[in-house]
Amino acid sequence: MSHSRPAAFAGLVVAVALFMLAAHRSNASAAAADGTMAVSVDRSAPEQGAVVRVELRGAPGPDNALIHWKGRGWPMKACGDGCFEALAGIDLAEAPGRHTLTVMATRGGVALRADVELEVRERAFPLQSFNVPKEKDVQDPVLARRIEEEARTFRERIDAPPSTPSWSAPFQPPVPGFAPSHFGARRVINGEPRNPHTGGDMTLPAGTPVHAVADGRVVFSGEQFFGGNELLVDHGGGVFSMYFHLSERSVSEGQLVRRGERIGSVGATGRATGPHLHFGLRVTGARVDPAALPGLVDKR
Ligand SMILES: [Zn+2]
Repeated sequence: MSHSRPAAFAGLVVAVALFMLAAHRSNASAAAADGTMAVSVDRSAPEQGAVVRVELRGAPGPDNALIHWKGRGWPMKACGDGCFEALAGIDLAEAPGRHTLTVMATRGGVALRADVELEVRERAFPLQSFNVPKEKDVQDPVLARRIEEEARTFRERIDAPPSTPSWSAPFQPPVPGFAPSHFGARRVINGEPRNPHTGGDMTLPAGTPVHAVADGRVVFSGEQFFGGNELLVDHGGGVFSMYFHLSERSVSEGQLVRRGERIGSVGATGRATGPHLHFGLRVTGARVDPAALPGLVDKR
C-alpha cells in the first residue's frame, strides 16, 4: 500500500509550487488573491485534540478543492452551491503556537490559494494510573515485535492516499448516549509512564450493539494485542473511526458501511479490564477527541 505514495507526494509538491503566486493570508479567514474565493474556520484558536471545520465559498465555485495541513493534502467535500468543507484535526500532542492551514482549489484550470493561521492552545489532560496483570503487559521481545507490527498495519491504513469524503455532519454516536472518558490521559501503567490514551472509553454491558458513526469503508477488521477485536472505518477526507475490545465484528475488511449500521458488539477482548467500548478518531492523521465531532457524544 506504500508503493503509490511517492507519486502522490510529487503531485502535491508541484501543486504547492503553482499556488505560491496567489498567496494571501490573515487570521481565521482568508481569501484568494483574485477575491472570488473566501475561506473560514469555525475556530481560529483550537485546543490540542480539537477538530477545525474549514469552509470555502467561491463565486463561482471551484471545480475541486483540498486542504493542505501538516505536510499532506486532503480532499474537501462539496457542501452546496460554491461551497466546499473539510475537517482538520489538531493532534493531542501538537505543538502549541501558530500553524498555517492552506486551502488550494482550481477553477477552469486556474489555481487559487488561501492561507489561514491557527493558534493551537495547550490543553491540560488528566493523569491516569493503573495496573494490569503481568501477562497482559508488554514484557518479552516477541510480544513487543507483534505490537509494533500491529501498530504499523494500522498506521499504513490511516496513511494511505486519502479517499473521497463520505462523512456528513452530524455524526451518529457509536452507542446510544455515548459519553466517553479519559481522552488524552497521560498514563502510568504498573508504575511506568506510557503512551497517552488516544481515544475515549465507555463502560457498557457486553453485547451492546456498536454502530458506524458515518458512511465509510471498513479498512481494518481483525484482532490485535491491545485492542482485541478491532474495526477501523475510513470516512474519507482523512476522517477515520476505530472501535476496540469488541466481542464480535459483524463487518469485514473492504466492506462499505452506512451511518448507523451495526458493525459489532461491546466486549472485553484485548487488554481490557472489563467490557467497554474504546472509540478513537483520526482526523487528517491527528489523534482527536471524540467529543470534537458534532453529534458523536451525548453532552447532556
Ligand atoms: Zn481506551
